[in-house]
Amino acid sequence: MAFDPQAYRPERTILTLGDAFYDPVAAADFPDARLRWRNDRAAAEVGAGTLDDGEWVRHFGRFAPLPGSLDRPLALRYHGHQFRTYNPELGDGRGFTFAQLRDRNGRLMDLGTKGSGQTPWSRFGDGRLTLKGGVREVLASEMLEALNVPTSRTFSLIETGEALERNDEPSPTRSAVLVRLSHGHIRIGTFQRLAYLRDEDGLRRLTAYALQELYGEDGDDPVRLLALVVERTARLAARYMAAGFVHGVLNTDNINVTGESFDYGPWRFAPTWDPGFVAAYFDQTGLYAFGRQPEAIHWNAMQLAVALRPLVEAEPLIAELDRFPALYQPAVTAAILWRLGRTPRSADEDRALVQEVERALRITGVGIDRFFFDAFAQAPPDSYGSEWDAARALLDRHAPRAARDHEYWRGSPRSMLIEEVEAIWHAIAQADDWTPFHDTVAQIRAMGVALA
Ligand code: AMP
Ligand code: MG
Repeated sequence: MAFDPQAYRPERTILTLGDAFYDPVAAADFPDARLRWRNDRAAAEVGAGTLDDGEWVRHFGRFAPLPGSLDRPLALRYHGHQFRTYNPELGDGRGFTFAQLRDRNGRLMDLGTKGSGQTPWSRFGDGRLTLKGGVREVLASEMLEALNVPTSRTFSLIETGEALERNDEPSPTRSAVLVRLSHGHIRIGTFQRLAYLRDEDGLRRLTAYALQELYGEDGDDPVRLLALVVERTARLAARYMAAGFVHGVLNTDNINVTGESFDYGPWRFAPTWDPGFVAAYFDQTGLYAFGRQPEAIHWNAMQLAVALRPLVEAEPLIAELDRFPALYQPAVTAAILWRLGRTPRSADEDRALVQEVERALRITGVGIDRFFFDAFAQAPPDSYGSEWDAARALLDRHAPRAARDHEYWRGSPRSMLIEEVEAIWHAIAQADDWTPFHDTVAQIRAMGVALA
């Protein structure tokens, strides 16, 4: 069937930004387009759940335009700080904005690609995505969604039949094109580029676009936009911590101004509460280590303030930036309480509980996923030992926010540690066996229901 007429609401508002914000591009002509995974849950929210597989591949593997949305894909222009070094040569080098749609809640969503071919911003890259990279992005985004982290959703994964050379995977390796559904693709780096080019008019226009289209607010006040970004990114940092997630590449071009997490490359989940745990092999200094993510994200928000400076005085921007720690603290407490399955009491009691849990997790090295599984709405068992006595006593004071009666709680904790990811990939690589992948996604979704 075609798009669902009740839910399909195409948009093209990105065109109001003007030609200086993007470059029209075409998708690569892939030798194959084999549907590997479609996110029917996300698709239903934008009226695409009713497409049959053939139509799906035509749109999300061959990139036939979506009716009423963009006529041509647009590679977005942006700059960014990569590991704190400014790079003015970024931009969508292997992706584009393919379509815009309203979701069920009226939010403006982008369908963006990864691995769809070369663009003016590819530099020396092939514009491609490895199938393993695509599988990893599905797993990360599903896991984060289940763990209540604001995230882009992986919408589609289609294998494209090419052999890619990579130095971080055994090569040649299989290729894929991925589509993600996200609440805009305006990055901090999108603003940085305009500041770098001294394009004040563009800055003002982008500020108004972000406020209007992504936050539903009138006007073009850069201080208001920064305030919203500080709030959303502080919450994102807090949710990463409660999830035990290490994004790995928190560069300013990978930070969406909606505070929605996206772009999953060398991510890992931390097995234990180790603030120094690093995801990316190329992050030698641990800049984006588990425990340094709040600081890294705050630093990124600061770069947005710098970019907005041509529009407004420094003082009000600094005042907004300075709110980050005070927003982060209650957000991380709330996020950890949520994962513990507890209702809040007073701010002091909540903070005391979370500090004690963090301390015990750190010194005992208990697995993060195991601990939260065991502690959800009940005290951790005696086998945890006396180091947990203080945490147990505090936990007992907080009423459960949900019953522990979903069948998920009768099994074992679903985690997504590197060995598990590698095992899922191994089955695909060795035997083209997608069963572990599909089973895992089903288990993650069951966990999401159990936690909700
Ligand atoms: P990332 O680290 O994935 O956020 O990418 C950083 C920059 O490199 C972005 O401008 C990407 O579009 C670009 N890039 C990454 N991989 C490739 C590739 N294989 N071909 C072309 N551009 C790429
Ligand atoms: Mg990126």
